[in-house]
Amino acid sequence: MSESRTALVTGGGSGIGRSIALRLAEDGFAVAVLDLNGESAEQVAEEARQKGHTAAAFGNVDVSDRGQADEAVRRVRETLGGPVLVLVNNAGVARTESFLKISDDSWNRIMAVNLNGPFYFCQAVVPDMKEAGWGRIVNISSSSAQSGQQYMTHYVASKAGLIGFTKALALELGPAGITVNTIPPGFVDTPMLRASEERGLLGGTVDHHAELTPVRRPGRPEDIAAACSFLVSEEAGYITGQVIGVNGGRNT
Ligand code: NAP
Repeated sequence: MSESRTALVTGGGSGIGRSIALRLAEDGFAVAVLDLNGESAEQVAEEARQKGHTAAAFGNVDVSDRGQADEAVRRVRETLGGPVLVLVNNAGVARTESFLKISDDSWNRIMAVNLNGPFYFCQAVVPDMKEAGWGRIVNISSSSAQSGQQYMTHYVASKAGLIGFTKALALELGPAGITVNTIPPGFVDTPMLRASEERGLLGGTVDHHAELTPVRRPGRPEDIAAACSFLVSEEAGYITGQVIGVNGGRNT
């Protein structure tokens, strides 16, 4: 099916993005692992290549910069030999700050990475998807946009924006054979979650929260990758504009 199709995963060097990149490589896509961190992007691409898959790293790319986004997509096309027909907007930043302490800079940075990034990357790849008459876009939002999360007003607003962005874009791109969906993860064991635990921002340990989760464990990056793998598959062509929660039952 997808031997020659190229998939681009932003924030692919760590956590959820890393698992998605490795899973899509396993599924037969040529995978572009894009990240702000050049070293981790290269490690993930190398891990995929060691398993015999096709992957290339695109490090030191900041998704919040339109010029860098356009240039990266151009280089991906050149390096992997085909247009990007699968885009996973996964790169994101989270901060915990009480509402009155959020500065303009902090608000704008969160919006720039979490919302402008997907906007720039979608604009960069959609023309090729339209030409191919086929495309898959998956935006990684957050269950906090469904439930709210104290001290994360900026982050939650950016992820709720990404859910609205997904729904609107799906309506516009459906006739072109392009699906657009969002996975809002909840409580997934990644460096981002462990950093929050270490800083005492979770209101308890990861183990404590696992006890309160209906499936009694934290999510694994592979859980999100599995849902993503399905959403970008041929079989998922009738699923678009949807919010597919992967959260162990924490949000329904
Ligand atoms: P992570 O381990 O921190 O990975 C995020 C990756 O994105 C990192 O490699 C990071 O690079 C990269 N990145 C950050 N800013 C970037 C930028 N401006 N341009 C390019 N790359 C950038 O986080 P994660 O937990 O896997 O999260 C992945 C996504 O899931 C995020 O959108 C997050 O909001 C969402 N999410 C996660 C959870 C969870 O429970 N873990 C829950 C809800 C939503 P650096 O390391 O260099 O910063």
